[in-house]
Amino acid sequence: MIRSMKILVINAGSSSLKYQVFNMEDESVLCKGACERIGIADSFMKHKLPDGRSKEYREDMHDHGDAIRLVFRALTDPEVGVVKHMDEIGAVGHRVLHGGEKFTASTLVDEKVKAAIREVIPLGPLHNPANLAGIEACEEAMPGVPQVAVFDTAFHQTMPPRAFMYALPYEYYTDHMVRRYGFHGSSHRYVSAEAARVCGREGDPEFKVVTCHLGNGSSFAAVKGGKCIDTSMGITPLEGIPMGTRSGSLDPAILEYLMGRTGMDIHEMTNVLNKKSGMLGLSGKSSDFRDLEKGQEEGDFRCALAREVFVYQGRKLIASYAAAMGGVDCVVFTAGVGENDGDVRQRMVEGLDFMGIAIDPQRNNVRSKLAELSPEGAKVKVWMIPTDEELVIARDTEALVEGKSI
Ligand code: ADP
Repeated sequence: MIRSMKILVINAGSSSLKYQVFNMEDESVLCKGACERIGIADSFMKHKLPDGRSKEYREDMHDHGDAIRLVFRALTDPEVGVVKHMDEIGAVGHRVLHGGEKFTASTLVDEKVKAAIREVIPLGPLHNPANLAGIEACEEAMPGVPQVAVFDTAFHQTMPPRAFMYALPYEYYTDHMVRRYGFHGSSHRYVSAEAARVCGREGDPEFKVVTCHLGNGSSFAAVKGGKCIDTSMGITPLEGIPMGTRSGSLDPAILEYLMGRTGMDIHEMTNVLNKKSGMLGLSGKSSDFRDLEKGQEEGDFRCALAREVFVYQGRKLIASYAAAMGGVDCVVFTAGVGENDGDVRQRMVEGLDFMGIAIDPQRNNVRSKLAELSPEGAKVKVWMIPTDEELVIARDTEALVEGKSI
């Protein structure tokens, strides 16, 4: 009976809430949707079914509680619903952005877990309150139904101190939680496990993978024997490679220098680093790689520059993670850009053939499906592995509810 469990997966952001319902019998998605503009005027929700049908609900959502209640209405809607009663939903899995150092794996939610998520709100000030609100709204609306928290940071907790410590006074770590945490953990965990499977190296403690999660937000991880030993995002998702709108790593002295010259305060400056930099800032056009490619084809040098900076920084990260692991057996590309932009993939590994990393242009002509990209017989395998963070959340939720360890 437990195999037929239906699991609701919730991914709450500061003003949005995405959801999916899985039938765990065959891990199929029964429906998915998103609430947008929560707490802002003109909020709405779009609910979609796998057969292409969809329904839009235009209703005021003042908070995440309103959003959850609207999701429940859609799930039981006679027209487009997927259950008769909400008690058919066996458990809820929540994506939680920041677990600090407290969570090394997904966990069933209780009062202590909620208190721990609350404690690290200063590290995830926009997301953690939204994640908690999602959990509490579900607890209220479906009392007794198990809730599971799946942390974006948990997979990276195996990093050794030499990888997670910043070279700042040590007290900032002990007193203020300042260290590298890393994000996109569910994705890096999923694609690195898939890489071990497709390379026939499951359970091999020496299997070394570099995972490149290239989306609107991008991060890299070095995964040895299934354990993360380094990753590119930091105490927040701002560090690492330049992204859609985030600057990625830069000389911290730039902040004081630019604030002095422009009169920006620290909030405005941080907003520029998070929302106006990266591909958008460099190109002046767009954060979307499809627009950048088009711009480059039309001769826009700033679009070309943005893409060049991105692939160059990515290339250096791949090589440095191979150095961190003392070698590399597999490089994985995933997420929106990694799964769709063959040109970015090809250029990111350009010049890495000295380390045995190369992509076959014919094999690279592929989108959004599991595919080997390296040439026949290559020493280092390159794979494109579509990520599925929601499925990871649903699987962890099912396992914890069934009393299994993850
Ligand atoms: P998020 O970080 O929001 O989860 P995704 O992993 O879904 O993002 O990636 C979204 C990004 O993927 C888009 O902003 C766009 O840059 C890129 N992308 C999506 N489709 C394509 C495509 N066909 N070609 C190139 N880039 C694409």
